[in-house]
Amino acid sequence: MMAAITAARGGARVVLYERNDRLGRKLLSTGNGKCNLGNEALGAEDYHGGDRRRIASWLERFGTEETKAFFASLGLMLKDRDGYLYPVCEQAAVVLDVLRLAVEENDVLVVPNVKVTRVQKCRDGRIMVVWQDGSAVYDSVVLACGGKAAPKTGSDGNGYLLAEQLGLAQSPVVPALVGLRCREEACKAIAGVRAEAEVRILEGTRCLLRERGELQLVEYGISGIPVFQLSGQVNYLLREKRVLRAEIDFLPQWSQKEFEAYVRLRLRLAGLDGAGDPGNHGRMAGRLSVERGRTIGRKANGLAAEDMSGRTVETFFTGLLHKKLMTLFIKMAGLKTNILVGEAGRERLLEVFRLCKAFSLQVVGSNSFDQAQVCAGGVKLSEVTEQLEAVKAPGVYLAGELLDVDGRCGGYNLHWAWCSGYIAGTAAAGGAVGLGGKKDDKGENL
Ligand SMILES: Cc1cc2nc3c(=O)[nH]c(=O)nc-3n(C[C@H](O)[C@H](O)[C@H](O)COP(=O)(O)OP(=O)(O)OC[C@H]3O[C@@H](n4cnc5c(N)ncnc54)[C@H](O)[C@@H]3O)c2cc1C
Repeated sequence: MMAAITAARGGARVVLYERNDRLGRKLLSTGNGKCNLGNEALGAEDYHGGDRRRIASWLERFGTEETKAFFASLGLMLKDRDGYLYPVCEQAAVVLDVLRLAVEENDVLVVPNVKVTRVQKCRDGRIMVVWQDGSAVYDSVVLACGGKAAPKTGSDGNGYLLAEQLGLAQSPVVPALVGLRCREEACKAIAGVRAEAEVRILEGTRCLLRERGELQLVEYGISGIPVFQLSGQVNYLLREKRVLRAEIDFLPQWSQKEFEAYVRLRLRLAGLDGAGDPGNHGRMAGRLSVERGRTIGRKANGLAAEDMSGRTVETFFTGLLHKKLMTLFIKMAGLKTNILVGEAGRERLLEVFRLCKAFSLQVVGSNSFDQAQVCAGGVKLSEVTEQLEAVKAPGVYLAGELLDVDGRCGGYNLHWAWCSGYIAGTAAAGGAVGLGGKKDDKGENL
């Protein structure tokens, strides 16, 4: 739609083929129906895929200001929530409405229910578009068939076949912005928990990737924004048969040193370990917001920590993390919840604490393209020029997710759709003029 509107605004006569009965079905489900269509903080580092320098040069030509100006020109009011751009009305359907209106007002001819099956070069340099029971020839064609994430919306990967027919090389396509599946049965016990966490992807002891944000624990493994952000890269590593673990830090706000001081304090409160740095003890006691009452240890900042030696293992850990997590970690450390903490043994308590900072799951895969928000991979950027024109098929332009560009969560994928659609649409219209400047009887560019 972006390419069509831009090409039409550039003076070209445009026909838009859509295999569905209406345009923009995927757009309706974006941002949980609210459509996160861009981001105030935009840079090539927000994208994976081909050469970042090239991605940067395209983003420079159509950045966040251009996105805002474009939607303003369509009458859409935008707002920014922590940098994420949404329509003020928070309705993806309204974003689609303004795009459809612009398509209509720019006299783009929409041909629904037509699935293009081939795009090929003609001898005269023009491009033929073929579908089941028809064909048409154009000066230029923009391929914007999407990837193969959420295939029910219409983008089921057939665009890759169209590109393949034109001889365009492609990077392997994997699901991205998707939940990761883990081997451990334990996931079932903690499903439903949401927590601020850091997720680290480890190969052996080496940390390859890390992300922080709201983690969601699910029956099959892990999900939520930090997992989505990592998932495309994890899928590529898994393709190479790499053995990966996801190590989850449920207390990312504490450095390892701070955490160790905290653990020493807690063990001391359990009557298990008197040793500890009193300075840290004081600081951590302050941080714990402990109650006054039965106290042990020295007072610091007017606060003193509670003697917890009379608590059970379960109550000793109450208040640290989500109850489901603590119950699982206590079990994993081989402890019973109802025994006195003093009888639990130092090593086992330490194991419970260790799990809070480094709970490890084996990653065996991800959810499928059906559940993915985008695809990583696609037509290699080396196959297109700065104008997004196919080097091997001049006159054919590519835009959107079909190309080997995938963004982080946060409006970056739609931004890429607008940005690449704009560049391809502008060039395709210019291309039409360039190819002899053919005009129809009303003097319009053909
Ligand atoms: C659930 C979900 C939520 C998302 N949320 C966000 C979000 O909030 N922010 C964000 O930035 N990104 C989000 N995305 C990603 C974003 O929607 C896509 O990256 C973006 O829509 C890609 O745009 P596109 O134009 O390349 O492809 P698409 O939007 O997939 O459009 C391609 C169109 O081409 C049509 N088509 C395909 N093949 C043919 C053919 N052969 N002939 C005719 N027509 C054809 C399809 O039917 C489709 O209408 C989300 C994705 C999903 C699935």
